[in-house]
Amino acid sequence: MVWRPYVSFNIWSQFESAVGQEHWHCDMKRGFVRARKKEPSVKALLEQDTTAQHIGLLAQRGVWEFHQDIELLQIVDGVERVVDKLKLSQESAEIQQRVIQILKNYYEKPILLGKDIIKLSRGDEGIPEPLLIQQGNYFLNLFAAIDCIFREQDGTLHILDFKTGKSDFDRRQALVYLLAANYLFPQQKAVASFYNLENRKSSELITAKNAQLNAIRDQLVRIAQEHQKELRLYKQNPGEFAQLFPPNPGYQCYNCQFNSICKFSVSEMSA
Ligand code: SF4
Repeated sequence: MVWRPYVSFNIWSQFESAVGQEHWHCDMKRGFVRARKKEPSVKALLEQDTTAQHIGLLAQRGVWEFHQDIELLQIVDGVERVVDKLKLSQESAEIQQRVIQILKNYYEKPILLGKDIIKLSRGDEGIPEPLLIQQGNYFLNLFAAIDCIFREQDGTLHILDFKTGKSDFDRRQALVYLLAANYLFPQQKAVASFYNLENRKSSELITAKNAQLNAIRDQLVRIAQEHQKELRLYKQNPGEFAQLFPPNPGYQCYNCQFNSICKFSVSEMSA
C-alpha cells in the first residue's frame, strides 16, 4: 500500500481544542501520543483502555447487538440478554452499572428502530479504511470511524455519532464526517448529529455547504502537513521534545494519561 500523510478528527483535536476549551490544551500530550507512542512506557499507557473508552465501546456494541436481533428490543428480558452477550459480569461495578443503564435507556428509546440503516458499527472494528483526499497535487488519507449512517425518509443521509459520559459534542467532528460522507456518497445530501446514550441528549442537526467542506478539507491538509513536519523534526531532534511539543501544566494534568511519565505534570511537580 502507498504511504500517504494522514489525518483524522482525533489528530485535529490534538492540535487545537474545541472553542472554549483552549486553556486546557496541551501540545505535549500530542507529542506523547503521536511522536513517542512506540516507547515502552508510553505504549503501555496508550494500551490501557480507560474506563470512559471502554464504556463507549461496550455501549456501541450494545446498540449493535439490539439491531442484530430486533426482537431483543421487544422481549421483556432484552436488556438482560444483551448484558450476557457483552459479558458485563466480567467488568468492574462502575462499568456494569453505567452500561446497563445505557442499555436500558436504549431499550426504552431505540432511536434507530425503523430507520433505514446503511451502516452500524460494532465498535471493535479497529482502524477504518482511509479515504483518499486530494488538494491539488497533495494527497492524504482521512480516517473517519463513523458509528452509524441511516437514510432519512426524504433520502438524506444521516450520520450519527454516539457519545457516552459528559463529553461535549464537538461540531468539528461532525464536519469531518460530512466531508467523509461527501467522498463516500458523492452528490448525496447529508446531515450529521450526535446522540448521548447516557443522558439521551441529541445535538442539533449539522449540515455543511460545499464551500465549508472545502474549507474543512484545506484545514485537514494543513494539519496533516504540520503533523508530518513535527514527526520529522522529533525524529531528527528527540532531545527537543519539549520545544516541539510545549507542555501546558495545570489542572488538566490530573486527568492526563501521561502524568506519571511527564516531568512537567503538575502532580509530578508538587510531589
Ligand atoms: S501531564 Fe500535564 S503537561 Fe504533561 S502532557 Fe499531560 S497535560 Fe501536558
